[in-house]
Amino acid sequence: MWLLTQKRIQCRTVLLKKKVVQSSACEICGEADETPEHIMCGCNLAKELWQHLNMPSMLAVDMDSIHTITPRGGIPHDKFPTFLALVCWHLWKARNVMVFRNELQSLSQVLAACKHAAEQWRYRFSRKKKHLADAWCQIFTMARQGPFWTLGRALIVLGTQISNRIQA
Ligand SMILES: [Zn+2]
Repeated sequence: MWLLTQKRIQCRTVLLKKKVVQSSACEICGEADETPEHIMCGCNLAKELWQHLNMPSMLAVDMDSIHTITPRGGIPHDKFPTFLALVCWHLWKARNVMVFRNELQSLSQVLAACKHAAEQWRYRFSRKKKHLADAWCQIFTMARQGPFWTLGRALIVLGTQISNRIQA
């Protein structure tokens, strides 16, 4: 995470400067230069991931100011940087699998890996903090079910209210 905020992760814009690669274009979408921001916010999988996690503020953040992002949509404030680091780490890992092993990674797979990691964090957290890992697990499960789940849930509640009124 520290390397990420310092913009020193081994992305192709850095590798091009070091003359390790010939082009800085993203190897996954080919639509932009592979900068830390593109990897974490702009590339297809990243965009989908943040949308499903209901964190649109991550779609246009500069890595220098990633610490200014505040949680929303039911994500706990406590240990939020850990949550963010967990998601970024699994996004980065999924990208590497796609680039180096040529294996497609679905959003569902990334979210499952995030959930697994959250379960591991549950063991590491003190008893007082275990509920945070539980909340994370729930968020990853719900994100797998679709984007904007908060909105979806609100619509379900509204729908039930309307049908109750029709029946009454
Ligand atoms: Zn890309």
